[in-house]
Amino acid sequence: MNLILLGAPGAGKGTQAVRLAAKLNIPHISTGDIFRKNLKEGTPVGLKAKAYIDKGELVPDEVTVEIVRLRLAEDDCKKGWLLDGFPRTIAQAGALDKIAKIDAVINLDADLTKLIERLTGRRVCGACGESYHVDTYSKTECAKCGGKIIRRDDDNPQTVESRLNVYTAQTEPLIAYYAAKGVLKTVDGMKPIDAVTAQIYGALGV
Ligand code: AMP
Repeated sequence: MNLILLGAPGAGKGTQAVRLAAKLNIPHISTGDIFRKNLKEGTPVGLKAKAYIDKGELVPDEVTVEIVRLRLAEDDCKKGWLLDGFPRTIAQAGALDKIAKIDAVINLDADLTKLIERLTGRRVCGACGESYHVDTYSKTECAKCGGKIIRRDDDNPQTVESRLNVYTAQTEPLIAYYAAKGVLKTVDGMKPIDAVTAQIYGALGV
């Protein structure tokens, strides 16, 4: 199955993507993770993306689409894939339509006013990417892999505000785009994590 997880920053895409990809045994492709890896390694793509990520703006479509096009051409994608954080613009969605057929788009519906608190309090494992929240997890090491817990640079209040504005202006229109194609499945992303997972599995019949 070729799947997309759509939703605002902090709606839970990353958390749900890890579960869904494992269940379906397909690769989880997060453009945010790819950019962060490039940033860490100091590649030309990482250097180009840094200014946009720091400001909470979108990396230009041509850069992002090319990264996804190359990733989807890899061998492990032959059995299907799950995109997380892509597409984020109508232009990206149009480019993706030319690359592959989409079987379903899961939209994680979320209350944007509550996401500010979720994102600014979010902590992640620098090694495996597991997400936590400062209110419920105060340890400095990841419970899953022992990696160091960090705060993403772009989870500061100013950048979070910009990311949510960018979502509303550029990404939210994708809900109507995929609804018109008849592939959209919306679930309530504000429910507890396990309940959201159950809704997603139910919507996909897996
Ligand atoms: P994420 O981890 O999905 O929240 O992405 C972090 C940052 O990476 C975003 O705020 C953007 O700057 C950049 N980014 C990730 N995915 C995309 C995309 N599909 N298009 C443009 N920029 C992206």
